[in-house]
Amino acid sequence: MKKLLRLFLAGLCMTAGLACAQPTAGKVEVVWLGQSAFKITSPGGKVIVTDPWLRANPLTPPEYKDLESFGRIDVLLVSHGHADHIADAPALAQRYKVPLRAPGDLNAALTTLGVLPAALLPRMNKGGTITPVPGIKVTAVRAEHSSVYVWRNPATEKDETHPGGEPVGWIIEFENGFRIYFAGDTALFGDMKLIGERYKPDLALVPIGGNFTMDPTDAAFAVTDLLKPKAVIPMHYGTNPLAKGTAKEFVDAMGSSPVKVIVAVPGKALEF
Ligand SMILES: [Zn+2]
Repeated sequence: MKKLLRLFLAGLCMTAGLACAQPTAGKVEVVWLGQSAFKITSPGGKVIVTDPWLRANPLTPPEYKDLESFGRIDVLLVSHGHADHIADAPALAQRYKVPLRAPGDLNAALTTLGVLPAALLPRMNKGGTITPVPGIKVTAVRAEHSSVYVWRNPATEKDETHPGGEPVGWIIEFENGFRIYFAGDTALFGDMKLIGERYKPDLALVPIGGNFTMDPTDAAFAVTDLLKPKAVIPMHYGTNPLAKGTAKEFVDAMGSSPVKVIVAVPGKALEF
């Protein structure tokens, strides 16, 4: 019966041309939306969204530029204050009444600026593990990067640069124990070995664009020598002419590593 319903829904989605694939129960579904934006659905059906830069992101599929398309968001994670990570997060937090989880000092700036009500801006910091919804555990870990929040002051109509806290990566653990390491924007750093040993991620999401973050060679070293996940998806490339790293360079740099390299296509669901 369940299978029939899934077939019916799949048919309906194809007919309507909608991106509404139904996640398989018991699996983690990962949809890359360009840059560091992901929609991740847990085995229990919880929807986690990371770094939602969507409406102005050239790689985001058109259907996801409509913020209504998410249907629900249970956990909203923002790694730092740069616009290509936080851009649509306040609007999603408002729309889905979901707290915006980000470095505590970034949320302090968002609170004092009045970007969102304080109730939607809980504070946490590196080393903290939270259970934002039952069954999902999120830990903030180190990222080697920077963070500011550029805010358009409505009174002056000028941009102001505010403190953005220290950037973070996230360990996301699902109901079935599957763990994702979302690296955020980061350089290569030695404590990725600690992250690998302590959290044993099944899947790593790592930036490869270079210039602002690791390039393909550094990212491959991080994955093969330090993090050692079962699988990796490259992110944060293909949107900024300064960040020239490509998925092919990353695949080549990974060589014959036993880590499975998955080059995600924006909007296409992957199951783990
Ligand atoms: Zn950044």
